[in-house]
Amino acid sequence: MSASASRTSGVGKTHTALRPFARRGGARAHQLQPAPVRTPVQATPECGVLRALSRAPWIRRPGFTWGTHEGFRDYSFGARAGPEIGFQHLAHEMAHAIELLGNAELARLHANGYGLRVAQVEILGRSYDNPETMQATERECRVAGIQMHIMESAGLRVSSFIDDFAETMVQFMPDWFVGAKHSEARKHQREELIVKSYGSWDRNAVREAWSEVCAHIHRCAG
Ligand SMILES: [Zn+2]
Repeated sequence: MSASASRTSGVGKTHTALRPFARRGGARAHQLQPAPVRTPVQATPECGVLRALSRAPWIRRPGFTWGTHEGFRDYSFGARAGPEIGFQHLAHEMAHAIELLGNAELARLHANGYGLRVAQVEILGRSYDNPETMQATERECRVAGIQMHIMESAGLRVSSFIDDFAETMVQFMPDWFVGAKHSEARKHQREELIVKSYGSWDRNAVREAWSEVCAHIHRCAG
């Protein structure tokens, strides 16, 4: 068998390049190393949150922890809303905590979900939301205004935020029988409340409030 035929005989065998072989004379044995296989890194929703956090380093303070859960739980801010994970949801939970500070309600940080509950009514053994005031809606609007400052600070677009948030509240907040009856009027009412809240804060005030919130959590839960 010629040298060339001998070389070609290896074609088709697997892992030929990985077999150890001895140099002529057998003085040294060499192991050919396979090229490292790089698994492509999949972008996950968490990556988006991390990118936003890197653009807003003021958020990462002692006392701040976040996760992919929903809401505020065990002193950890959640970045999930339903099936979606995103920085805007994390910003919403942060904004809730800042709003509590503004209302001198920091004690609520010791309860999951800030201890916020809508009044319930029981019908045929099942509980349903039964708000008698617009307090929950008004709070969400105050929170949304603060949330916008956080999102802007992290480089997120907020151009359609007020419209989207107000629309979502009209659809999902269980307060359709209090306040304005017509859905357009209710949406407009909520938009005005969000704009008012946004205008009553600025970026520096939000950052200072956030550092107080984190210091409080760090003292109590750290
Ligand atoms: Zn909320």
